[in-house]
Amino acid sequence: MDATARDLIVLEPVIHNNIWGGRRLASEFGYAIPDGPVGECWAISAHPHGDCTVKEGPGCGQTLSELWESRRDLFGDAEGDRFPLLVKIIDAEADVSIQVHPDDDYAKAHEDDPSGKRECWYILDAAPGTTVILGQRAKSADEFRSLMERGAWDELLNEIPLHAGDFFQIDPGTVHAVKAGTMLLETQQSSDITYRLYDYDRRDANGNLRELHVEKSLDVIDFSMEPPEKGLEADEELARAIEPTGATSLAGAESAAGVVCLERNEDYTVSLVQVLGLLTLPMDDPFWCVSVVEGEGSIAGRRVRKGEHLIVPGYVDSVRIEGTMRLVISHI
Ligand code: ZN
Repeated sequence: MDATARDLIVLEPVIHNNIWGGRRLASEFGYAIPDGPVGECWAISAHPHGDCTVKEGPGCGQTLSELWESRRDLFGDAEGDRFPLLVKIIDAEADVSIQVHPDDDYAKAHEDDPSGKRECWYILDAAPGTTVILGQRAKSADEFRSLMERGAWDELLNEIPLHAGDFFQIDPGTVHAVKAGTMLLETQQSSDITYRLYDYDRRDANGNLRELHVEKSLDVIDFSMEPPEKGLEADEELARAIEPTGATSLAGAESAAGVVCLERNEDYTVSLVQVLGLLTLPMDDPFWCVSVVEGEGSIAGRRVRKGEHLIVPGYVDSVRIEGTMRLVISHI
C-alpha cells in the first residue's frame, strides 16, 4: 500500500547552543531557537543528549527513543538498543574544533557506549572560498604529537575546498573540522562522542577553554588513511541523474526526478533525491529518515517544506512524493 499522511512519524527537533554557532537555523530554516549562538538542530534523534518528540503520527507525544522501544514494527523490527541514526542541520558561523570520533569497538571499550560515530555531510551552503579540514598527514602518533607540539597545524592537517552541493563521508578515525560559513546536513550513527584535538584556543562565555582529548584522539586516528583531495560533487551527479518519470504532475507538465546514492556502508545508506512533479518511490528498507533540504511539496499527501524532517515506517510499500524539492533520505 501507498503510505498515507497518518503513517508518517513527524518529529520536533532538539536545538543545541554551540559557541561556534550562528542564527541561520532560524533565519533560513525557520526553527524556533534560543538566544545566542546556535550550531545544531538535531532533527531526527533518539540520542539521550537530544531525544526528539513525535509531534504527528504513530506514537504522537512520545520521544523517538520510547517509540523505538515500544513499536519496533515501525522500524522493520530492526535490532539494537538505540535508534541507530541521527540527522542534524549544522550552522557553523565560526570554525568548529578540530576533532575525531571513535568506532564502535573503541566506544564500547572506553566510553561504555554502544555506538561509535561514522558521519557524512551534504553541504547546504558555504561562503565562497570556504574550506574544510579532512584527514591529516602524520604516519604515526609520535609524528602527530611532535607536529602538534610545534603548533604546525598547517603541515599536519589536510585542508581542501568545500562548496554547496558537495558530499563528504567521514569514517571514524578521520581528523576533521567544519570551517566558518558552512551549513550542512549531517547523517551519522547515533553517537555524541567527540574527541577534540584543538579548539583554536577559544574561550567560552566564562573565560574557560574547552576540554581537549589528545590521548584518546591519538588512540583512534587512522594513520594509514590517505587524506582526500576533494569531496563528491553530489549536486552535479544529481543533475546528471534527472530523468522524466513519465508521470504527469497536477500542473499538467511531465514530471522528472533524480536519485543519487551518496554513500552506502555498514551503518547507513544516504541518498539525494530531486523531485520535479510526481515521484513514487518503492519502500524496501526498515524505515527512512527524510529531510527536506530545498523547496516544498507533499510526502504521502502531507504538505512539507524546507527544514522539515520525518520518518517513513518500513511497513508501507511505496511513498508518493510531489512538488519541487530536494530531499536527503537515509536508512540502515
Ligand atoms: Zn564530527
